[in-house]
Amino acid sequence: MMTAVEGHVAENYAPLPVVVAEGDGVWVTDADGKRYLDLLAAYSAVNFGHRHPKIVEALTTQLGRVTLTSRAFRNDQLEPFAAALAELCGKDLVLPMNTGAEAVETGIKVARAWGYRVKGIPEGRARIVVAAGNFHGRTTTIISFSDDEQARADFGPYTPGFDTVPYGDADAIAGAITDDTAAVLIEPIQGEAGVIIPPEGYLRRVREICDERGVLFIADEIQSGLGRVGETFACDREGVVPDLYLLGKALGGGILPVSAVVGDRDVLGVIRPGEHGSTFGGNPLAAAVGLRVVEMLQTGEFQERARQLGVHLASRLEPLIGHGVTEVRIAGLWAGVDIDPALGTGRAVAEKLMDRGVLVKDTHGQTIRIAPPLVIRATELDWAVEQLRLVLGD
Ligand code: PLP
Repeated sequence: MMTAVEGHVAENYAPLPVVVAEGDGVWVTDADGKRYLDLLAAYSAVNFGHRHPKIVEALTTQLGRVTLTSRAFRNDQLEPFAAALAELCGKDLVLPMNTGAEAVETGIKVARAWGYRVKGIPEGRARIVVAAGNFHGRTTTIISFSDDEQARADFGPYTPGFDTVPYGDADAIAGAITDDTAAVLIEPIQGEAGVIIPPEGYLRRVREICDERGVLFIADEIQSGLGRVGETFACDREGVVPDLYLLGKALGGGILPVSAVVGDRDVLGVIRPGEHGSTFGGNPLAAAVGLRVVEMLQTGEFQERARQLGVHLASRLEPLIGHGVTEVRIAGLWAGVDIDPALGTGRAVAEKLMDRGVLVKDTHGQTIRIAPPLVIRATELDWAVEQLRLVLGD
């Protein structure tokens, strides 16, 4: 296998030594022509598979028209995209950005502005309740409320204004809210933490608490949303609608960075011209791709696939418990698989799986995350789990 020689790339990642040269659907091919089943899907950004023809078609059509205007002018793609995405979310307005972290930053700014201008929090005092174990991105403000030392250490001084409570504990949220609290910001399922699924009823209770206490509920659905869990949003699993959806990753169809904050006018409308923006946010190329992604989600077909294949995947993974696997957590086509430490680390398992033609990513030492493109076939899942079984039996 060709080894990854990256002498000029800063070492902020420790990638598996596979050099991907091509991707098609659920498969990628390395520079030597070896094929791998992609069970990471770029952290769920490739939910529709590599180079989905419908998304590529939207991209190439728009490439032949106009790609970037800046928001100094209007473009003819942004309003159709925003209208479709707002409808998908059942909301009024969309604020387009690029990366997930930018959507989170935008959500924080909106919450604070809402806190001062609508709720009447005294200037400079707005606070946001967040959950332990969170992952919301890598900016200096976002890492300020991370409890992952690797993400935080040596990057201070940190942004104040966040209160951390245990994840999955709604009473702790209620206890942390004060008159200065503008919002509760959580992932409906914690992805980077290892696909941590909160107890049934948690999201409903968070919604009730936020309503009772006059606090915004912000759901970071950047990894959990857009079909992954067998519903459009992970919040749908409990029939809950947050005040703000933070979306990213799959919104760009695995082709472009496209993110957005989606909310009703009484919340997102607090942002006035000149207060926030991005050179690339809402560009016509991204909007054309985002619109196509939303159209694909409107049929419900990908959500249904994730639901059915998730049941199938669970039936294949659960028998591994006690045979090299200590725990499996699964929501739709998204699984956190804890590897028995006696057998080695998640990274060691990921490397052995790579040798067998399966790409996964370890997280937090012992966990591997399985999040294939939603276009995967049941037989391909079976083959991948068989490779895992063989690796664990080695
Ligand atoms: N929020 C969640 C829940 C995520 O999983 C991620 C990325 O993994 C982000 C935000 C940050 O997204 P990005 O890497 O596009 O900035």
